[in-house]
Amino acid sequence: MIVIFLGAPGAGKGTQSLRAANAAGVPHISTGDIFRENIKNKTELGKLAESYISKGALVPDDVTVSLIEKRTHEKDCEKGFILDGFPRTSNQAKLFGRLLKKDKKELSVVINLDIKDEALLDRLVKRRVCPKCGASYHLTSLKPKKDGICDECGTALVQREDDREEVILQRLATYHEQTQPLINYYKRKKLLVNIDGDRPVDTILKEVMKVIGS
Ligand code: AMP
Repeated sequence: MIVIFLGAPGAGKGTQSLRAANAAGVPHISTGDIFRENIKNKTELGKLAESYISKGALVPDDVTVSLIEKRTHEKDCEKGFILDGFPRTSNQAKLFGRLLKKDKKELSVVINLDIKDEALLDRLVKRRVCPKCGASYHLTSLKPKKDGICDECGTALVQREDDREEVILQRLATYHEQTQPLINYYKRKKLLVNIDGDRPVDTILKEVMKVIGS
C-alpha cells in the first residue's frame, strides 16, 4: 500500500495521514517532520532546509527526493507507506514515479483533502503540534484532553515556526503555484480521490479509511 496525501497547508494532511498510517500499520512519512527533526538536531540537512522553510519556500527537489528514496528503502516500508507532504512539485512527482518503477512498486491512491483558503489561515494560526510524535491539534476545534499536552505521548505542544501569518501566506502562494498542479497530474493517471476536508476529523478519517481499504 502506497498512499499520497495532497492538500494545502492546514488541510489536515498531517492529522489524517498519521491516523490512517497507524490504523493501517504502515509507516507515516512526512518530509516536513523529517526536515524539522534535522533542524532541531542542527544537521547539515537541517541548516539547508531551514533556509527555505523559514521563508515559506520549498526545499529543492533533489534534496527532497533523495531523502524519500532513502527513507522508502528502509525495511519498515516493505509492506507500504503513507506519504504526507511529498510530492509537492510536478518534478518530484515524476521522479517519485520513476523511483517506484525502478523498485517495482505501484502507487495505490492519491487522496486530496479539499478545503477553501479562507478556512486555512485560522487552522494554521491556531495549530499546535507535538514535536515528538507529530500529532496536530487546534486551539478551539481539536483541543488536546489536557491543555498544551499531546494526547498520544504526553509531550508539551508547540507552535511551528512557519505557522506565523506572513510565512503562512507565502506557503499558501507556494502551494497554489507549485503543488496544486499535482491534483490534475494524478487525476489524469486516475489515481486521485477528492475528500472534503472541511468536516470533523473523525468523519474525514472514516472516508479516508474506506478509500484506503478499497
Ligand atoms: P509540512 O510539514 O508538510 O507543512 O512542511 C513544512 C515545510 O517543509 C514546507 O513548507 C516546505 O518548506 C518543506 N517541505 C516539506 N515537504 C517538502 C517537499 N516535498 N518538497 C519541498 N519542500 C518540502
